[in-house]
Amino acid sequence: MSLGDLVIERPAGLYCPPGDFYIDPWRPVDRAVITHAHADHARPGHGHYLASARSEGVLRARLGAITLQALAYGEVVEHRGVRISLHPAGHVLGSSQVRVEHGGRVWVASGDYFATAAPVGALADEDNLTCDPFEPVRCDCFITESTFGLPIYRWRPQREVYADINAWWSANADAGRASLLMGYSFGKAQRLLAGLDERIGPIVVHAAVEPLNRAYRAEGVRLPTTQLLSEVTDKASLARAIAIGPPSVQDSAWARALTVGGIEASDAFASGWMQLRGARRWRAVDRGFVMSDHADWPGLQRAIAATGAERVIVTHGYEAVMVRWLEQQGLQAGSFRTEFGREDAAEAAPPQSAEAAREVTAAVDAEAPETGPTGAPR
Ligand SMILES: [Zn+2]
Ligand SMILES: [Zn+2]
Repeated sequence: MSLGDLVIERPAGLYCPPGDFYIDPWRPVDRAVITHAHADHARPGHGHYLASARSEGVLRARLGAITLQALAYGEVVEHRGVRISLHPAGHVLGSSQVRVEHGGRVWVASGDYFATAAPVGALADEDNLTCDPFEPVRCDCFITESTFGLPIYRWRPQREVYADINAWWSANADAGRASLLMGYSFGKAQRLLAGLDERIGPIVVHAAVEPLNRAYRAEGVRLPTTQLLSEVTDKASLARAIAIGPPSVQDSAWARALTVGGIEASDAFASGWMQLRGARRWRAVDRGFVMSDHADWPGLQRAIAATGAERVIVTHGYEAVMVRWLEQQGLQAGSFRTEFGREDAAEAAPPQSAEAAREVTAAVDAEAPETGPTGAPR
C-alpha cells in the first residue's frame, strides 16, 4: 500500500482506513459495506451493514435479521469524514459500486459488474433487464473485478442469446419435450426469465428461485408468470414447459419429474463459462447458452476507461492478464487477493474440468507469455 490509500487489503477483507469500515469482508467485522447479495460478497455475522435500498429485500431474505442501513443509489452518507455512496453495477438486483471520497480523492470499488462495450445507454436492450444499468463513476482509483478478464470472453448481443433460448424451447415444445434451463438462482435465473417468450408454453421454476423472483417483483422488475413444479396440476402441460432451476437440480428427482410420456426433458446451462468449448461437455448438458452477469473483456475495458482512473486495482479473476493490459495503457495497476469468486454461484467459479482448464491456460499464456500459469484462474 502507498500512504493514504483509501482502500487496502486486510485479512478480513478490503478495508477503508480513514472510514474504519470494510467492503464485502469475508470475515465478521463491525462495519461492512455490501456491494451485492451473492454469497461471496454478502456474508453473515457483521455488526452493521450498509447496502443499496434495491438490495434490501434480497439481503434480508438471504441473511435474516441483520442491522442494515439502506441507501438509495447516489445518496451520500458521511462516516468519520469519508463520504460514501452507492452506484448501480448492472450485475444483479441492488448490485452497487462503492464510491468513497476523502481528502479530495475518490476511490470506487466495483464489486461484480456487468457493462457492455457500448457507450452507456446506447444499447439499452443490451443491459441486464432485471437491474439498474452500470453507471460509470469518475474516480482516481478503480478497484475492478476481472472474472472474465481474458480476450477470449466476448459476449454476443443479449437479444440473440434470448432468441436462441426461445428457439430451443419452442423446438422442444413442438417435439413434446420439456426444457430444463439451469442457472444460478439469484440473478441469472431472473435474467433468463426476463427474456422468455411466454407464448411458447408454461414457465416453471424451482423452489430456490421463486423467493428471489418475489424480491425482484417487489422492486418492480417485470418477470413473466411463473409456477412451482408442485403447483402444476396438468402434468401433460409440462411437455411445452420450460423449467428454470439452479445447477444442483441436474439429474435430481425434480428434473426427472419433467419427463412427460417417457420423454426426458432437454437440459441446458446458461453461463459465461459456456464460451469455453469444453464447458458444455463438462456440464454434460444438451445445450450451453453463453450468458453472463459479469462484463466481458471489451466491457471491462470500456468500464475501466469510463472511470478516468489513473490507478486500477484488480480483484478476482485473471489478475495478471488484466494488470499487464492496464500497464500497457499507461495506468498504474496492481491487484488485491480476495476471497471473492468462490461463491455458490456456478457463474463465479471457472470450470474445473481438465479440458476447460487447458483452454483457459492456453488463452492466458497467449496473452501474457511472461507470466505463464500464474495468470491461470484459481
Ligand atoms: Zn456476484
Ligand atoms: Zn463475485
